[in-house]
Amino acid sequence: MVGFSGSRQWIYVQSIEGKFTTIRRWTFLALHVVLFVLPWIKISGNPALLFDLQARQLFILGAVFTAADTIFLLIILLFATFTLFFVTSLFGRLWCGYACPQTVFLEAWIRPIETWIEGDRSRRLHRERMGVSFGLIWRKAAKWFAFLGVAFALSMALMSYFAGARDLWSFNGGRVEYSLVAIFTLAWFFDFAWFREQFCTYLCPYARFQGALTDNETIQISYLPDRGEPRGGKEAAADGRCIDCGKCVVVCPAGIDIRNGFQLECIACARCIDACVSVMDKLEHPTLVDYTSVVAMEGRKPKSIRARTLVYGAMLGGLMVVGAAMVWGRVPFEATVNRAPGSLYIIDADGLVRNTYFLKITNNNAGGEPVVYRVRIEGLIDAEVTSQDMELAARESRTVPLILRVRLSDDLLRTIPIQVYVTSPDGELVVDATFKTGAEIGTATTAR
Ligand code: SF4
Ligand code: SF4
Repeated sequence: MVGFSGSRQWIYVQSIEGKFTTIRRWTFLALHVVLFVLPWIKISGNPALLFDLQARQLFILGAVFTAADTIFLLIILLFATFTLFFVTSLFGRLWCGYACPQTVFLEAWIRPIETWIEGDRSRRLHRERMGVSFGLIWRKAAKWFAFLGVAFALSMALMSYFAGARDLWSFNGGRVEYSLVAIFTLAWFFDFAWFREQFCTYLCPYARFQGALTDNETIQISYLPDRGEPRGGKEAAADGRCIDCGKCVVVCPAGIDIRNGFQLECIACARCIDACVSVMDKLEHPTLVDYTSVVAMEGRKPKSIRARTLVYGAMLGGLMVVGAAMVWGRVPFEATVNRAPGSLYIIDADGLVRNTYFLKITNNNAGGEPVVYRVRIEGLIDAEVTSQDMELAARESRTVPLILRVRLSDDLLRTIPIQVYVTSPDGELVVDATFKTGAEIGTATTAR
């Protein structure tokens, strides 16, 4: 349909009420609570969820993860990916219809605002067919202004996960953060005002590959041709066949006709089910659009347990076990040992060879009492170790010198691998390093 501004094929979606619309509204509400409230919650003095890119730290439920914990991020991403695969193989595009931000924001904000300002489908269509008028222009302007406000609020909410909600919403954030908010606001506004369902059809990668994740057993939203066809005609209403009212089509945000079978554009929003239920209820017949599977339509019982669900389920189980084991074995501190710049080794006046390092320890605990860290060395026989115990408060980091000295002997290697053990009540870390003795001293060429 040619719309108000150019050749864009606009979809004029009609409002609908029903069981699935209600379920989706509650889902949207829950997701909005998470989006807007979570960045304000603190656990042990730390944000419940914050991606601090500048400090390269991730806060999850009060725990602090640093660059050294990148593997956890990888496991979380893999877990989310396989959860999506698993759910899609069982229930199709549930994510698209119920939880994708594109759907949630359009359904929770944009369509209600549009209906409130411009009226429902028939009124909007009528006004646009009448041509450009003052009523049309001020409504468009008011609608776009409201979209801009929504885009700004959503961009601020999303940026709160990276810049901290308190700083951002009190306008004490940095220039970079507000620049990104401005960019996201314009991107969302473009999406809300013009792009909309084209995002799902042309840009979203999930829409492209979800066909490979489903099979004939997958429960998807479908028209039931066995009961619906032949559609239309005088007896259709009495027989419970499709009366060709078109209501399932006009409520569809993707602008498709579910009766034409599975289509890539379908986001599984279930609006067409609510539409057909509302029609067929009045005729005292069951709906002709419903959640079902190809095998169910063929009269067989769909199986939940099958090769692909077993594989995805096994991957999820494996990731859970690996993740749990890693969390269990994780020590909440980091230690690095770096040689003092410009100093390989020094032979002291008393004949001992000395290597100097800098030991950096970071306490990654989110809160609680200060922790004492102690150092010991392995790999150097009779080494003289000069280092100091460190007491660090939560999230404190400190660097101290670490000096090792050993007596010269003919059997010393030129380069000796050593292990620096950092122990604390939270656990122990081992850092590998080397001790240099100098080419003129060392005689052996293999490790002891
Ligand atoms: S066909 Fe039905 S489920 Fe698919 S997008 Fe349209 S209304 Fe939603
Ligand atoms: S809403 Fe139901 S009866 Fe009406 S056209 Fe769609 S499938 Fe047919």
